[in-house]
This record gives sequence, C-alpha cells and structure tokens, in this order.
Amino acid sequence: MKWSILIGRPFGVEVRLHLTFLLLLAFFGWRGWDASHTVQGALSSVLFQSLIFGCVLLHEFGHVLMARRFGIRTRDVTLLPIGGVARMDSTGETPRQELLIALAGPAVNVVIAGLAFAWLLLFPARTPQFDTTALNAPLPLALLVVNLFLVGFNLIPAFPMDGGRVLRAILSWRGDRVRATRIAAAIGKGIALLFGAVVLLGMAGLIPIQQPFLLFIALFVWIGASQEADAVATTSILQGVTVRDAMMTQFRIAEPFHSLREMSEWLLAGDQQDFPVVAQGDVVGILPREDFLRALAASGPDTLVKDAMRRDFNLAAPEEDIETVLRRAQSKEGSVLTIPVVQGGVLVGMVTPENVGEFVMVKAAMKTGR
Ligand SMILES: [Zn+2]
Repeated sequence: MKWSILIGRPFGVEVRLHLTFLLLLAFFGWRGWDASHTVQGALSSVLFQSLIFGCVLLHEFGHVLMARRFGIRTRDVTLLPIGGVARMDSTGETPRQELLIALAGPAVNVVIAGLAFAWLLLFPARTPQFDTTALNAPLPLALLVVNLFLVGFNLIPAFPMDGGRVLRAILSWRGDRVRATRIAAAIGKGIALLFGAVVLLGMAGLIPIQQPFLLFIALFVWIGASQEADAVATTSILQGVTVRDAMMTQFRIAEPFHSLREMSEWLLAGDQQDFPVVAQGDVVGILPREDFLRALAASGPDTLVKDAMRRDFNLAAPEEDIETVLRRAQSKEGSVLTIPVVQGGVLVGMVTPENVGEFVMVKAAMKTGR
C-alpha cells in the first residue's frame, strides 16, 4: 500500500494509516470547528472519529487473530476512510475456517457493544458526557450505536463484506467453492442493485428514504463481487495443476564466476528477468533482476554473479502442486518469487509469477473458446 504510514506493530502485524484517512480526520476536525467555533468542539469531533476507527481496528484484529489460530499469516492492516483492510495470505483453507475468521471481526464489535450496554446499565449517573457534533450522546451510548452499526454493515451478505464470506463458507460447506463463490457474488450484485434502486427511488421521491451513501456502498459491493469471482476463477484454473504443467523450460543459466557485465547482455537480449545460478550441476543461487541492478549500481560490472546472487531461495519438484509451491514462496517476507524446479538434483525448469500468470491467461482463453 502506497500513501500510508506505519503507526504500530501490535501482535507483530503492521498497522498502517492511509494518508486519505488523515484527510478524513481533518475534515471532521473542520466540521467540529464549524459547528461549535471552539477548539474543544473540533477536538472532540476528531476524537469521536478516532474512536470509531479504533473499533474498526479491533474488528480487523478479530479476523487477524482467528486466522493466526489456523496458521494463516497477515501481512498488514491498513485503515482507509471506508474501513479497515487486513491483507491475509488466505481467507481460510476450509469452509469452517473461513466462517470462523469472517465471524471473528463482527464478534469483536458485539463484545464492545455488550460492554458499552453493561456500562450504561451499571453506571447511568457516572457516564462521562461526550459532546460531539456527530452524535450528541454519552460515550457508552455512542460506542453501542457505532458497534451495532459495524456489525450490521459488515454482515451484509456481499463481498467484500464479512457477510459475503460467511455466505460463501455456508454455500461451500459440502462442495464446490468456485460455484459457491459464483452464487455469493451473484447475490452480492443483486444487493448492490437493490441499494442502487433504493437511492434512485428515494431521489425520485417515491419512497421516504434519502440515503445517497447507499449508492457508494452499492458500488463498493458491485466491485467486490466481481473481484472475488475473478480471483476464485484463477484459483480454479490452477487447481490440480502441477509444477511441470506451468513451469518455464526455456531459459538461460548463469554460473557463479560470470560477471555482471555478461549478465547485462543476457538481460537485454531476452525477456528473462531472473537467472538460476548453477555450479557443477547444482543450483546454488538465483539472481533476480532487482538484485542484479542493485549489485551493478553498488559494485560495478566486474562483480561476480556469486557475490550478487541470492542464496535463500525455494526449490520445487515437478510433480508438486503449483498452488502449494506459490503459497510457500509468498509466505516468507522478501523471498524470491522465482523458483527453480529440480528433479533428481538436476535443474529442469523454473516457476515465475509472470509465467504462471501467462498459464492462467492461456487456460482462461481456451475455456472461453470452447
Ligand atoms: Zn471484517
């Protein structure tokens, strides 16, 4: 995520704030000032918005920590003006996992709402006043309303909301995840159209609902449904495909004592970007283009390949599942995504993200052509 700043690393997960989010806070600060003409008014408005996003952040960590229980890693959590986004390696390996991970977020808001409700019941007199322009309510009441809204909003049964994942998990409980996603995406698009219709009817004065914000949600849901359907279509193409089917078999091999000068000629002559390095028949390293360029800039064209190459690379066998291999490479931060394929100690192919992308495109085109 570009345009975002790191604000902390709770539970070892980077939390980032998107810069547009700061604009939103500034906007609410201005609104608070505009309504009250006091610094206190501006501050309390900003504080109230921060509180809402605190609840959103806790919601995201509900997903993150539940996913961690199943061994699924989260890259980072980013706060955007529209909510939080947790980048996880997977939404769950089984329908049960997906269901629990999706529900863990809203469950956090249910707990906060419950605590706020208990606070209201137990200490009605000692409730601190939280005067904001957004909501003139005592703090626990504001927390209650906000968290109930977050539960309702996130459980709309449409991607990219949690409700969409809950729906898919239930639909795929015994059977086809791709079909389940298609159905869930179609339901999501139906909901988007319904929201759009409500906005139009309201604008025309035919129904007493004036919620232009729904149009924004409708758009969000429509795009989310399409993206999810595409992502699963790609996964379904790769299902059951072995490394042998999708690997590159024509490429050049570098040797440890080649110079970067020679490598630069190779790089220019073809479209290969990453070079496996082989010594006495064994793969000893890999020289990705970025590392090549960095070494060239730092120590010049006479540098040897062995001093520029990466030694921490993944290997794959031809009969392995391509999905497993890709996931293994992506699960380690900063690891090389190009993977040499070795059979009986001999280099027989290479898997690169570009090559797998081409494989998916070719298969998709053949499917359409049928
Ligand atoms: Zn969520």
